[in-house]
Amino acid sequence: MKISVSMLSGYEYCPRKLYLQYVLCITEPPKESLVLGSLRHEIYDFINKNEEGIVTSITKKLQLSNILNIYKALYLKILREKIIKNKSKLSSVNLELASVFKRTYPLILNEAEARATNIFNFIQEYNIYGKELWENLTPKIISELRVESNILQLKGIIDKVEIHKDGYVPVELKTGKMPKEGIWPGHRIQIAAYALLLEEKYNKKIKEGFIHYLDAKELRHVAINPFMKEEITALTKEVQELLNRQYPPNYCQNKNKCTNCGLREDCYNEAQIDTLLSEI
Ligand code: SF4
Repeated sequence: MKISVSMLSGYEYCPRKLYLQYVLCITEPPKESLVLGSLRHEIYDFINKNEEGIVTSITKKLQLSNILNIYKALYLKILREKIIKNKSKLSSVNLELASVFKRTYPLILNEAEARATNIFNFIQEYNIYGKELWENLTPKIISELRVESNILQLKGIIDKVEIHKDGYVPVELKTGKMPKEGIWPGHRIQIAAYALLLEEKYNKKIKEGFIHYLDAKELRHVAINPFMKEEITALTKEVQELLNRQYPPNYCQNKNKCTNCGLREDCYNEAQIDTLLSEI
């Protein structure tokens, strides 16, 4: 049975939680970070899908500030529309629309600046516009790319894939706290699994990936090494075995995780767990 890449990182976080969610079907109540994260995903997906329209609309030499204004106008419109569309989800976790706007606008402004600068520099160097500019521009970005493999027994959706002249680079967008150094272990597993899935899909070696910590506005690099395949294969097997077990794993050792866990009450309610186990 194919499992999703997010299950691998969930397993790394807490095997018991994964069991409660996927075997006992206990749902985690919506959390502020998850609702905000999904809104940001929606916005970035829309941004990526509209990049061609912006680039092909540039048909003559423009100042950087003009290009930036084109990006800013569209991104602002997207942000407003997506916030309104997600109004009830945001209210369900007590998020006010104005505060979401204030927190999200700097992130998309940052993205607009990066993309406008890339286009401006590209035009300076190659002096091409419109369709020709789009066809030659690198990197191009695919968002929400579906990948799966019968060999790896994995499937998933990659947030963003950059297509450079010399290869593909997977990028995962993450909201919330960033570690002082490097990336969180679950994020490393995710990007490694996506690199393997991309490698199989395009039959090209993937050398690196990135985690984009949106709140910190920082891209953290992950070098892909040959040992990761073994690690991901072993982990996939462990998760498949876990999903076939008749009883849940022990509580996790890191009590900080339990303090922040949305399933804490269900997890420690042994009578409820026993009832659910008797029903499977
Ligand atoms: S409360 Fe702790 S042990 Fe239970 S599912 Fe959450 S993180 Fe895991």
